[in-house]
Amino acid sequence: MTLTTARTAPRVVLLNPGPVNTHERVKAAIGSPDECHREPEAQELLATVARKVTAVSGGGDTHAAVLLTGSGTAALEAAVSSVVPADGRLLVLDNGHYGERLLKIAEVHRIPVLRLEFGWARPIDLDAVDRALAADPGITHVAAVHHETSTGMLNPVGELGRLVARHGRSLLVDAISSLGAEDLDVVADHVDWCIGTANKCLEGLPGISFVVAPRERFEQLADVPGRTFYLDLHAHYTSQVGSRTPQFTPALQVLRALDEALDLTAAEGVAARRKRYTERADAIRAGLLERGVDLLLPPEHRASSITNAHLSNGMTYDELHDGLKQHGYVIYATQEKSAGVFRLANMGQLTADDITGFFAAYDEVVRRHTTPRSPSSPAPAEAAAVTR
Ligand SMILES: *Cc1c(COP(=O)(O)O)cnc(C)c1O
Repeated sequence: MTLTTARTAPRVVLLNPGPVNTHERVKAAIGSPDECHREPEAQELLATVARKVTAVSGGGDTHAAVLLTGSGTAALEAAVSSVVPADGRLLVLDNGHYGERLLKIAEVHRIPVLRLEFGWARPIDLDAVDRALAADPGITHVAAVHHETSTGMLNPVGELGRLVARHGRSLLVDAISSLGAEDLDVVADHVDWCIGTANKCLEGLPGISFVVAPRERFEQLADVPGRTFYLDLHAHYTSQVGSRTPQFTPALQVLRALDEALDLTAAEGVAARRKRYTERADAIRAGLLERGVDLLLPPEHRASSITNAHLSNGMTYDELHDGLKQHGYVIYATQEKSAGVFRLANMGQLTADDITGFFAAYDEVVRRHTTPRSPSSPAPAEAAAVTR
């Protein structure tokens, strides 16, 4: 068999927070035979993937999952726009870019919304949440981000869930960058609406996202007015779970890849994956600190899959990014409110050697940047031609 050029291109090490480097079995799954989404085997695929994402979220038979074709934000928008009743109100807990996104989605759909803004890289103040809920009985739902990917902060989903449940309100959690690696259990943590995606810590390919909730909650959505046609969660639930058929054409091959990724997740185990990610993150953090690079967050707030660090050596993000890219490593910028910070994610199939290789490349990029150029030293274009 001859492979195309794109398939034989050298592996790039992805240190961005998804899409991630995937297992060979996941990549192979998208080469599955062409198929029709209304046939029994496709229906079986949807039911199987739904069962597996429910299980990885901690849900049992009382729970169901709705699968959507679209990136994580599609499932977020489906949940936010579908669950708050006409006379309800949403409290958004915001300590980063993705907290802000929850707010923006609610605003677009003209959902009455209150925002508790804690500031970027600042922890959620649970007492403030407690007071806000006590003060306003009109709040029906609370939305929060589990792993705030913009800063790498892991928010305390269990404590938050217990607090929201004590007030008798419903909790919606963006678990897009935590599910598959961080400790999360929708039952124990009182998460009513759990939103996840295929291509981060579940290590699938981009294109499928999902919402996991108790069946009862999905059924109660019949009383909530629809705010969108394509992302109407109740309509998807009725079709996918009630009639075992997708409402619209799903990305079947991406679902096949996710099915494979979920099997790999189950075989490894979420706790073991977290341990693997933590080892990579520890190596990244130790390597950065050794080189005098400052990290954004104190250790107790850090998730296992991202490290935010301050740019150093007088380098701009673009200089660092472009230099590393030439060596085959892709790093990630951060969003507007933490200028001067870059991100190294360690989600996906990364080996210890990938991290060692990254630091060799990093040192080379820094060395070239900080060594004054003399007429006898190689021209930048020549020097840049090093590949892995
Ligand atoms: C990645 C991410 C999203 C969704 O981004 P998409 O580009 O739509 O996949 C949402 N929330 C968080 C916390 C994320 O990390």
